[in-house]
Amino acid sequence: MGKAAKVLDNLKKDLPYENEINFSKTKRVFDNSKVESHSAIIPTYLMPKSLTTDEEIVYNSIKNRFIMQFMPVAEYEETIITTKVNHSDIKGIFLSKGKVQLIEGWKKVEKIESKDTFLPNVNINDIVNIVDYNMTSHVTKPPKHHTEKTLLRVMETCGKGHEDENSEEMMAAVLSGFSIGTPATRAETIKKLKDVGYITSQNKNLICTELGKKIVETFPVKQLFDLEFTGRLEKTLSDIEKQKFSKENFINLIVDFTTKSVNTIKGDKDIILNEVSKEKREIEVLGKCPVCGHGIIEGTKGFGCSNWKNGCKFVIWKNDKFLSTMKKKPTKTMVKTLLKNGVVQVKGLTSKKGNKFDANLRYEKNPDNDYFSWKMEFINTPQNQKSNV
Ligand SMILES: [Zn+2]
Repeated sequence: MGKAAKVLDNLKKDLPYENEINFSKTKRVFDNSKVESHSAIIPTYLMPKSLTTDEEIVYNSIKNRFIMQFMPVAEYEETIITTKVNHSDIKGIFLSKGKVQLIEGWKKVEKIESKDTFLPNVNINDIVNIVDYNMTSHVTKPPKHHTEKTLLRVMETCGKGHEDENSEEMMAAVLSGFSIGTPATRAETIKKLKDVGYITSQNKNLICTELGKKIVETFPVKQLFDLEFTGRLEKTLSDIEKQKFSKENFINLIVDFTTKSVNTIKGDKDIILNEVSKEKREIEVLGKCPVCGHGIIEGTKGFGCSNWKNGCKFVIWKNDKFLSTMKKKPTKTMVKTLLKNGVVQVKGLTSKKGNKFDANLRYEKNPDNDYFSWKMEFINTPQNQKSNV
């Protein structure tokens, strides 16, 4: 705390609002009971010398945040002005809602532009002049798409009071643990939804995909889509931290909820959400295994028997030594023909001398063990004779 005071003394020198900065040890600034896994970043008393533009932006933002805490609280009045036009043809009254700033306080530091409408200071029964007027018509629009920024905001508060970034209600929500994840994990959650394909981004907007819509419409455990429900779980976790709720009770609640949910999902009818990806995953059978008759499928290192779990060892290696001396790798087509006919004609093999030739290849079981080896038969083609293998 002594260190923070010294830093502040250094930083406030020559600022136009220097005399409004006062070091204080109030609980609003230093609250050890709220220290959790993510601590605050504050500047040190070393003054930076040569910062790049980007570094300066980051440094100033940290510095300003630090200074703001020791400035007076900004104060304003929530105001509604009711105006009646003094003309018999114009009926009704006009309402102007907005704020009247009383003390600028910490907002001076960054001249924070508020989206609030500031109203002039008027008194009841004041008579004012109409300077200008015009009529506009409006059509209501559906709410805008979320951007990553606005979605993070909603996650922070579980949908509570997100209209006003600095509202007490929102701060209370964040501080009481009523929020999804931590600052470090929220962005990761959004990335996961993108990776799975439930959402996608268009420019800055986050759009729900068809797959995302389907899962929301058909998934039977509706609580998992309920912000309030998730918020309550997170709140309980933070209550456990504060020893207001017992770990055992929470685990019981979760086990109970999970068991019920899994049973609901099991009892629900099967709905195919994404047929395309299912087709993709379907494995192509290239032919019958000459040993056991099961299907041969392509793996990363070779074409092998799908019955390998039961011990069938049949495999055609992709980096087979015999073939690679002739600069050949087994292809899917080659394997298919070989399995069907027991022999395959391979074109464009390379001899030791570097000549190209064709040959018939067989893949036969060794008489003395369970492994297979390639057998080659030359074909008497004009090309082969010419090249003199
Ligand atoms: Zn087999």
